[in-house]
Amino acid sequence: MNSNALLFLITFLVIPLCSCAQSNPQAMKFPLQKTDEDWKKQLSPEQYKVLRLKGTERPYSGALYTLNEPGIYRCGGCGNPLFEADTKFDAHCGWPSFYAPVKNEAIAEESDYSHGMLRTEVMCSNCGSHLGHVFPDGPAPTGLRYCINSISLDFKPLKSELPVE
Ligand SMILES: [Zn+2]
Repeated sequence: MNSNALLFLITFLVIPLCSCAQSNPQAMKFPLQKTDEDWKKQLSPEQYKVLRLKGTERPYSGALYTLNEPGIYRCGGCGNPLFEADTKFDAHCGWPSFYAPVKNEAIAEESDYSHGMLRTEVMCSNCGSHLGHVFPDGPAPTGLRYCINSISLDFKPLKSELPVE
């Protein structure tokens, strides 16, 4: 094979194949994209562990678990409004629990097969940060329990909050 033919082969066959294999559908999914370095700079090490590495805070350890005040719970990664305080209930599980998100588009869900069980992971739909899991054993009207890490949330009391459109 002469060098021109080899060049042709590399340019039109090998390079497109490689770029295709490298594209990551997960990275395309969320509007807000940041590098790992940027997340590390922005978040505390504890926040980074839960939000970006899908960790779980210890039950009953979170600052927002027993909070019972009107307001909005926003994403700790990007400020996206996620849950309203009047959908919060005490599920006696050790993590803040809600029966519905502020709107369905606020969160993204994915099957999670880790720890030998099938659970539904809940993420912020804007930045992809891990929030917790949703279970089908919540109260009316949805019958759902969004079990969310306190550290994944940023609470804004009602008086400082603009209405969510
Ligand atoms: Zn977010």
